[in-house]
Amino acid sequence: MLNIHPVHAFKDNYIWVVHNQNYAVAIDPGITAPVIEYLQLNKLQLCAILITHHHNDHTGGIAGLIQRFDIPVYGPNNELITAITNPVQQNDIVNLPDISLNLTVLDTPGHTRGHIAYYGPDPWDMLFCGDTLFSCGCGRIFEGSAAQLYQSLQKISQLPDATLIYCAHEYTLGNIAFAKAVDPENKKLNEFAITAQESHHKNMPTIPTTLALEKAINPFLRCEHQSIINSAQNYSKQQLQNPVDVFAVLREWKNKF
Ligand code: ZN
Ligand code: FE
Repeated sequence: MLNIHPVHAFKDNYIWVVHNQNYAVAIDPGITAPVIEYLQLNKLQLCAILITHHHNDHTGGIAGLIQRFDIPVYGPNNELITAITNPVQQNDIVNLPDISLNLTVLDTPGHTRGHIAYYGPDPWDMLFCGDTLFSCGCGRIFEGSAAQLYQSLQKISQLPDATLIYCAHEYTLGNIAFAKAVDPENKKLNEFAITAQESHHKNMPTIPTTLALEKAINPFLRCEHQSIINSAQNYSKQQLQNPVDVFAVLREWKNKF
């Protein structure tokens, strides 16, 4: 049986630890101490580290972990992360025999130039997507273009609806406030706002989310819907010709929201 546990780090980061009671894999360890604490508490041995992109809040804990564990570090092949031992790219398979898991790499550029995500269809559909897709939102465009991030999100949205989305930040409540401004009549969004608020009050993560839910509530996955197009046109005061233009306006709008 596989467990997927969010180790909280910094203000709102999740370091996902996937384990089978014996061995564990850490995804985007931005800091060492809370990961070590979780491993010791649960008597787990770390067997690999997976990295989605080079930002320090996702990589800062690698050095401290590989000091204690002699393990492979998987990460994007076209970003400068010196600790990576196994550079990977689109369609590569990350073999994790200690926890009986194989993950497929998806190139998901836009937030950073070389950002990747990890997808596993077995034992259930799961995606570790770093700072690409968030619940009800998406990452900022730091190094790539709006078209790139839009394409990356489109690629993710082709995965099965039941896919559990393990993103790297708890940004959900802030994202919902923005989504409501863009898509005020969305009934599912308004329902989810209540659920998310309840989780927040109980100090529970709103993550993982599912792809099916995100397709229903996340404005950045809904750039072809007329209500989203209308809102983006009202905001930008221009006719928007295609979904990428709608997406670019939404991302700009969110930056200032
Ligand atoms: Zn980032
Ligand atoms: Fe981040």
